[in-house]
Amino acid sequence: MRRSRHRRGCGTACTPAPSGETIRAGLSPELDELRTAQRDARGYVAGLEAQERTSTGIPSLKVGYNRVFGYYLEVTRPHLRRVPSHYVRRQTLVNAERFITPELKEYESRILNAQERIAELESALFQQVCRQIAQSSGLVLETAAALAQLDVFAALAEAAFRNDYTRPVVDESNSLEIQGGRHPIVERALPTGSFVPNETTLANEDCSLMVLTGPNMAGKSTYIRQVALIVLMAQIGSFVPASSARIGLVDRIFTRVGLQDDLATGQSTFMVEMVETAAILHHATRRSLVVLDEIGRGTSTYDGLAIAHAVAEFIHNHPRLRCKTLFATHYHELADLATSLPRACNYNVAVAEKEGNVTFLRHIVPGAADRSYGVHVAQIAGLPNPVVMRATELLAYFEAHGAPSEVAAAPMPAVRRPNAPPALQLGLFNDVGDALLRRLESLDISSMTPLDALNALHDLQQRAKDLDA
Ligand code: ADP
Repeated sequence: MRRSRHRRGCGTACTPAPSGETIRAGLSPELDELRTAQRDARGYVAGLEAQERTSTGIPSLKVGYNRVFGYYLEVTRPHLRRVPSHYVRRQTLVNAERFITPELKEYESRILNAQERIAELESALFQQVCRQIAQSSGLVLETAAALAQLDVFAALAEAAFRNDYTRPVVDESNSLEIQGGRHPIVERALPTGSFVPNETTLANEDCSLMVLTGPNMAGKSTYIRQVALIVLMAQIGSFVPASSARIGLVDRIFTRVGLQDDLATGQSTFMVEMVETAAILHHATRRSLVVLDEIGRGTSTYDGLAIAHAVAEFIHNHPRLRCKTLFATHYHELADLATSLPRACNYNVAVAEKEGNVTFLRHIVPGAADRSYGVHVAQIAGLPNPVVMRATELLAYFEAHGAPSEVAAAPMPAVRRPNAPPALQLGLFNDVGDALLRRLESLDISSMTPLDALNALHDLQQRAKDLDA
């Protein structure tokens, strides 16, 4: 089918532009002769200008060409009296006259005839070559397909060699074991050696639903995508970015990752997310690998939590599904799933916290995360300090009392006026503290009386008390 379509297309595709340079010398003696004749005639015309200038004594004489008159000899007015009698006048311009000679016309027709014939001949020869190739199109297509495969395998081999991939074992089991797995793209984007490899163990019968909790920016998305990529790479015949891998064949890899809307067709971000999730729930099988990143993020907290929870339960319990699933979520509440679902297991991304500083270790470890560290990530991202401080206050309030809509009794912490002392000690000097320091520095103690100094000290103490209040 493909071959016959290819052959039909050749009729138009093979018609060359008559450039005169399509066929190389040596293929057709007739074409070679025509080209030589054309070259000679052009050479004659090119040399004619110098020759006629000498024979007529007209230094400004020019040989030119236009489509209407062909080749001509142009002589400016002051030299017209020197024009020889065999010149035939063809055109009069404001400052010059144009002439032809029988000899010039003879060479012109040689050039033009040759040009026309060359174009015809080249076109015919090109069609002939196309027909010849078309007769062997089967062979050509087979060779192209073989080369394409070779290209793919060579590229995979090169990537494996350059990036230290290993040969995976692919079998028909229902489990997935990866040691030292890496994300092939993220590891390339980071400084060499800084990517933290991770292990993965999933099995339909044992731990089939991995609930991966952890703060934003901890590395959850990277991890679940790396597992999907390793499986994909193994199944297309590639080596994989891992120290070892055993991959039970999957029938499809379903992913719900990233945020994207499709406003042109009337779909919001959340709608796209739900449509994709629905497709997964309808089409995945026990042999599938499902990768879900932050299901339910696009709606309110409780909606989102409820949907995420229900989706996880459905995949875990539905007889058609029960497949290997990586479920990344920043809702640490979802870790409770592991208590009610026997094949769900909790993992989280390790975080080190010391003296208020948080470090993401990028290690995937068993167990559930207990905090989101969202405010910390916001701070790293550069949100203005007052916003981070206010968010910290509000977070403490929400953690103590629940969301404001639920607890009417407890008053929300008030928004501070810009100059009011902060409710929380920040550790570093804020504006008021800085002002106190500046005031202290500006005192000229040597010119103050003891009473002035005492008053200034009293003033500073008063302001410091305000700061503490
Ligand atoms: P999350 O999904 O938890 O919000 P991401 O997977 O988007 O986090 O990771 C955030 C960033 O952390 C990535 O862009 C990458 O730079 C870094 N990162 C993720 N995983 C690793 C890892 N295993 N080793 C080193 N850096 C990592």
